[in-house]
Amino acid sequence: MSDKSILIAEDEEGLAATLHYRLTQEGYRATIATDGQQALELARSMRPDLLLLDLMLPVMDGLEVCRILRKESSFPILILTAKGDEVDKVVGLELGADDYVTKPFSMRELLARVKALLRRSLLTGPAPEGNEAPRNVLTAGGLQLDLTAHRAWREGRAVDLKPREFDLLAFLMQNRNRAFTRDHLLDRVWGYDIPIDGRTVDVHVRWLREKIEEDASKPRLLVTVRGVGYRFEA
Ligand code: CA
Repeated sequence: MSDKSILIAEDEEGLAATLHYRLTQEGYRATIATDGQQALELARSMRPDLLLLDLMLPVMDGLEVCRILRKESSFPILILTAKGDEVDKVVGLELGADDYVTKPFSMRELLARVKALLRRSLLTGPAPEGNEAPRNVLTAGGLQLDLTAHRAWREGRAVDLKPREFDLLAFLMQNRNRAFTRDHLLDRVWGYDIPIDGRTVDVHVRWLREKIEEDASKPRLLVTVRGVGYRFEA
């Protein structure tokens, strides 16, 4: 048995019921949200260990739910896409979803993905627990980022990061082990509207390395991906 909770955001009643049944059978605590707004609210209140997110949802679409939740939490998101929604799938992954399955999928395949994602998030560790309200804390590679308080620690010692450094590091940590181009990072961290040079990213990466790497000249966390850009490795 597992004590893991899974939020199912799916508006097709039959599919939602089947998912709920199978996940419960596997020992998970499953909850159903039938539209995007409800998914967002339930995700915030129940803080699930994993979110199964259909992209075509009423009220607020799945991509928007994904975009909002990724900014404030780090539980894995597995998106459910319809066949042919290639673009949405890619956008979903770029927005920080961890994996996807294409409908129609077999329950066996889905359960395997769920298990893999839950295992991975177990390895990277949940946010620290305490008596106070749970916080949004990212932990990886000896670093801790408190997204609520905007504070950072390296091996338990506070690190002073400028706002943009913090945002860049948070984005890369939330999408760890995934490479991003400078343009993509500019879009996601700096915003679409400001015309900035790609070298801005390089400069911030250099500053960050001085603060978070043991040896900034041999980075092990914030690594350069030749011909692409950067990746946070942990
Ligand atoms: Ca749907």
